[in-house]
Amino acid sequence: MLMRKYSSSAPKWRYYDQGLNVEAYGHSMVIKPLGFRVFKFDIDSELCKCPLCGYNFNELTCGFWDAIFRYSGYISGNPISLITIMVQLENK
Ligand SMILES: [Zn+2]
Repeated sequence: MLMRKYSSSAPKWRYYDQGLNVEAYGHSMVIKPLGFRVFKFDIDSELCKCPLCGYNFNELTCGFWDAIFRYSGYISGNPISLITIMVQLENK
C-alpha cells in the first residue's frame, strides 16, 4: 500500500474526497471520488467519469482517504484464492 502526500496545487481532475477514489492514467491521470460504496473493478466502470469533462475512463487503481475499507481480490494466476483485507485510515 502506498501513502501519498496531499498537494494543494493539484488540478481539479486530481481532487479526492473521503472514502473511495478511483484513478486512471489514460486520461490525464484523473481521480474520481466515489465516496462510501461497494465498487467492483471492471464491473462498475460506468461510474468512472472525469469530474471535469465527464469522459468515461477505465479504472486502473484506487485510493482511500479518511475511511475504513475492505478490499477483496484474487492473486494473479490463482483464481481460487480470494484474499480480503480490512484497513482503517485516519489521514486527515
Ligand atoms: Zn476530463
